Amino acid sequence: MPTGSYINGKWFHPNSDRLVKNINPADPKDVLAEFPAATAQDAQTAIDAAQAAFPMWRNTPGPERGRVLWRAVNLARQRLEEIARTMTREEGKVLKEARGEVLKGISLLEFFAGEGYRVHGKTMPSEVRDTFTYTIRRPIGVVGLITPWNFPWALPVWKIAPAVVAGNTVVFKPAENTPATASLLVEIFEEAGLPPGVLNMLVGPGSTVGNAIVNAPETRAISFTGSNEVGNALYQQAAKLNKKVTCEMGGKNAVVVMPDADLNKAATAIIGGAFGSTGQRCTATSRVLASPVVKNELVEQLRERASKLRVGPGLDESSDMGPAVDEKQWKTDLSYIEIAKSEGAQLLTGGGVPKSSNGGYFVEPTIFEGVTPNMRIFREEVFGPVLSIGVAQNIDEAIKFSNAVEYGLTTSIFTQDINNVLRYIEEVETGMVHVNEPTIGGEAQLPFGGTKNTGVGEREMAEEGVNFFTELKTVFINFGGTGERSMIR
Ligand code: ADP
Repeated sequence: MPTGSYINGKWFHPNSDRLVKNINPADPKDVLAEFPAATAQDAQTAIDAAQAAFPMWRNTPGPERGRVLWRAVNLARQRLEEIARTMTREEGKVLKEARGEVLKGISLLEFFAGEGYRVHGKTMPSEVRDTFTYTIRRPIGVVGLITPWNFPWALPVWKIAPAVVAGNTVVFKPAENTPATASLLVEIFEEAGLPPGVLNMLVGPGSTVGNAIVNAPETRAISFTGSNEVGNALYQQAAKLNKKVTCEMGGKNAVVVMPDADLNKAATAIIGGAFGSTGQRCTATSRVLASPVVKNELVEQLRERASKLRVGPGLDESSDMGPAVDEKQWKTDLSYIEIAKSEGAQLLTGGGVPKSSNGGYFVEPTIFEGVTPNMRIFREEVFGPVLSIGVAQNIDEAIKFSNAVEYGLTTSIFTQDINNVLRYIEEVETGMVHVNEPTIGGEAQLPFGGTKNTGVGEREMAEEGVNFFTELKTVFINFGGTGERSMIR
């Protein structure tokens, strides 16, 4: 695996004293690699390379650009196990989740490969005579892609693939926690035949490299996923330079359980949504709003299932849940457990560090009961395995409490009542709604993203995800032979 950055088709070791230490969170003594951190100067070199490659790539036919992604699909399939193991070692998620993520990235590559045939505008009748009007979509130019660590493979894919298939050239900055998986992805694109300069990667800090990418006048669009703190500042900065931006940030996703819900299925969905990926998904389930009719039985099922989850290193096939990604996130998880206790929430299970942690950043699957909308644990994103259970008396309260947070990514309702399903879909303020299934998941062909403080800009994935990386051009062709615009009569 390369341990540097990648500019203009070449791997190199940035000339810097700062090292990005790539650590296994299940065993911090296990250092995967040390990446010399790229600098702001390297960012500019990458931007220049991307700019130089743009005319060639823009003029490459879309289907041909898509074929590079198809070749990446095959290479990724061949290296699935290597990618999954690397991801587990540096991010911590259990192997079956890592394998699932590789497959998700492959689906995204397949979908976006096909989009090479479909980047399209519209033909519409003109209001005036003898005039042919239509739109085309053209690539924007150099785009900056900044990603977090929680989906170190699929998330870079869902930004890079639409950007390059639409004809843009890319400067990509992965999170410092997960440079190894990102390097494998870049290596695959290289082997798939992406020409030099089309994709450039910088492993380095957000405060220097990320900032340089956002502030360079040449990067005309920025796609960011990460924290609200960074995303909000980035959005403001980019606005000053009139850049196109999409930011995907926090979530505080609820599952509503109505009196007629199948509790067994609801419990399965809630446990998977809350503790899958150690709760480190923006779509993780972090709140349950249960009808008082079913609450006690549901709580008992959740407590029993959560306490049976095997917490351990992701590389151990018998583990159900891996560690937090790093010491900082681990401390955040533990501090939210203390906050919840101090607010008067009742600890149902978990709440501490498993005995067998051996220095790894493990947290027990934790559930609080008696959580009310005024509590911080109800409103704030933890990004860890901490689930809050509260009560909603009826569908009105379920909608009100679902919406009583600043975020709006995803939500779910368990019920058999079609009226409640449709009302909930209509009134809940999220970008995605699930019915009788977990809050998690996205599909390549379906738009992904949220409302309110979760996100700004175009949805990701799907046709919308490609459209973000294009400029619309409106064309008027006058075949009247007069040289004038015909007047409306
Ligand atoms: P998380 O910790 O959830 O990944 P962050 O928002 O801290 O969220 O980081 C997301 C990405 O944004 C990372 O790649 C990080 O390095 C980058 N980043 C952090 N600070 C900045 C910044 N000032 N400008 C641009 N990118 C940044």
